[in-house]
Order: sequence, then C-alpha cells, then structure tokens
Amino acid sequence: MDAATRQSFISALKESLPKKQVTENVPLSRYTTLRLGGPAEIFCEVASVSQLSAALLLAAEHDQPVTILGNGSNLLVRDGGILGVVIHIGSMFSDISAPVPLPDGSYAITAQSGATLQKLCNLAAEHGLGGLEFASGIPGTIGGAVCMNAGAYGGEMKDVVLGVTALDQSGKTIAYSGEEMQFGYRRSALNQSGELLVATSATFCLREGDAETILATMREFSARRREKQPITLPSCGSTFKRPQGQFAGTLIEQAGLKGHRIGGASVSELHAGFLVNDQKGTAEDYLALIAHVQRTVHSQSGVMLEPEVQIIGEINPVTEV
Ligand SMILES: Cc1cc2nc3c(=O)[nH]c(=O)nc-3n(C[C@H](O)[C@H](O)[C@H](O)COP(=O)(O)OP(=O)(O)OC[C@H]3O[C@@H](n4cnc5c(N)ncnc54)[C@H](O)[C@@H]3O)c2cc1C
Repeated sequence: MDAATRQSFISALKESLPKKQVTENVPLSRYTTLRLGGPAEIFCEVASVSQLSAALLLAAEHDQPVTILGNGSNLLVRDGGILGVVIHIGSMFSDISAPVPLPDGSYAITAQSGATLQKLCNLAAEHGLGGLEFASGIPGTIGGAVCMNAGAYGGEMKDVVLGVTALDQSGKTIAYSGEEMQFGYRRSALNQSGELLVATSATFCLREGDAETILATMREFSARRREKQPITLPSCGSTFKRPQGQFAGTLIEQAGLKGHRIGGASVSELHAGFLVNDQKGTAEDYLALIAHVQRTVHSQSGVMLEPEVQIIGEINPVTEV
C-alpha cells in the first residue's frame, strides 16, 4: 500500500480502537501453530463487535485487504507476510454464556468467536452437557472452527451448531441458522461465498448427559491425540484433506515419505498426515514439502492430495522488517 494511505488507515484505526490494539510489522510466526511465515503489515486485535465492525469499515474505506486470524492453527503464511490488515479475534473476544434451556430439553450455549474450542468443551462438560466431546483437543477458536467446520472422531461443527452470527465488510450483521451455514467437509457459508464474512459468535445445541462420562470421553480423545499425533511439534494438524474413501496419512506413508525433510520441515514420523516445522523452517520449506508430497503420492497412487491448511500471504516481503 502507498505510504500515505497506510498512514491514514493506521491513524483512523488508532482513533477508533485503543491504540495498543493496533500495531505494525507483526511476525505471524507468533500467531500460527506452524510457527513460520512473514509479518502482518498492520495487525489489529479486536475486543468487541463494534471494534470489529469499525476495523472492517475503515479497511473498506481505505481499500485495504483484510485477513481474519483466529488461533492460526490452520494457516500457512508465506514468508513475505500479509498485505493490509490482519484482524486477530482471540482472547479479548472470548466470552461464553451460561447454558440456556430450550423447549425440547436441550441447552444452548453461545460463545464469542475468539473463545477457544477447548474452553467451550470444558465449560459444556462442567455443566454435564454432551455433544462437543469430539472437539476437545482441536486447537482452534470458535470462529475458525465454524468457518472450517472442524471435526474429529466422527463429529463435526455441523452436528452441534444451532446458529452463527457474522458481519460482512459493510458492518452488516447476518444471522445464519445451522442449515444456512451449509456445512460441508472443512467448509461453510463463511468460506465459500467469495466475500468477507466474519463470525462474531456461535450458538451450540447440547444435550444433558453424565459429566463424568463426558469428561472421560474427552480425556480418551486427548490421549489418542497424544499417542498418534505429533502434538508437541509446530504443525497445522492434518496438512491435507482426506481424499474420498482414503486417508492422506496412509497414502503418504505408503509412498515412503515418513521422515522426508526439506529444510526445517518434515513429514512426521508419528503420523504421516502431519507435516511439521520441527527445525525452524520457512514457509518456502513447508510449501516445497507439500509440493513434493503431492507429486510423489500422485505418481504412486494417482491421488492428488489437496491442502487442508489455508495458504495465504505474499512471497516477497510486504514490509522492510
Ligand atoms: C495439532 C493440531 C490438531 C488439529 N486437529 C484438527 C482436527 O482434529 N480437526 C479439524 O477439523 N482441524 C484440526 N486442526 C486444524 C485447526 O485447529 C482447525 O481447522 C481450527 O478450526 C482452526 O481454527 P483457528 O481459530 O485456529 O483458525 P485459523 O487457523 O486462525 O483460521 C482458519 C480459517 O478460518 C478463518 N477464520 C478464523 N476465524 C474466523 C472468524 N471469526 N470468522 C470467519 N473466518 C474465520 C480464517 O480466516 C482462515 O481462513 C488441528 C490443528 C493442529 C495444529
């Protein structure tokens, strides 16, 4: 962006939001679980719907691109960084309501989009409410989870979301029912429309159950993750989507790629579906590894693996950092 527009945009943001919430040249390796990638040209934390709405409107007025960041657990930011503003929806916007009884005997809980899924799962379990056990251990925010229709162990957001509230870039509020979210495999109305839609909250429909059984199921899923996934290494979870009727990890292992390394990135020895950044690699290393895995698996099995991780940002530096 040209220097004058950039300065005018930053000044306007700082007038609308507390100044400390608007920063520049922020390394996104700090905000992604892959721990790599270049800086955000402008980085903005939001703590309320009105702050989010103001940031979106100002970006539109100044013709600045907007990127929405949750917990960064499904994002691969290229080494050049991100042009425009990255709006971080995290712990400053993470309230969760008490359960509200519904006429059919179930309960509704509403969470702001920056709350973590884990916080929601724990709270539901404390209240003896079941349905979210599958999500325990998925390291995303509510916003990222509903956008991606996160799922595991036979469950997905689609099964439990009653509704989602979002803003479009003009600041207009849009309320989606679960059905209107059009959840599919790692997709939803939020990432399929082609326009910027930002979740501000989601309401979940949960059923009464036995708190101990719910907690035991959550603990079992966590134990399975610890045993089968390299959760202590920087990753984005499964790097590739599950191909129809197959498993990406199995295809990668059968192609003899377990442990294959390019620079600081390698195919996990524990679970070949996880490409990990275990030696302080760059996005370039990681992208080269993705491409190598795709080529090798395709030549051996005929299956072209599609990345599940969202690849964003620029190859060339967006700032002088
Ligand atoms: C160790 C590990 C294990 C994982 N296991 C699983 C798993 O079992 N199942 C699974 O589905 N995923 C898994 N993931 C991937 C990831 O946790 C999920 O995709 C999660 O839902 C992403 O949430 P996030 O807040 O981190 O989103 P981010 O990575 O920050 O963003 C992901 C996408 O969502 C968009 N987004 C984020 N917030 C909002 C919002 N408020 N409104 C609109 N769009 C938004 C972003 O713009 C981006 O396009 C795993 C990741 C890791 C690192």
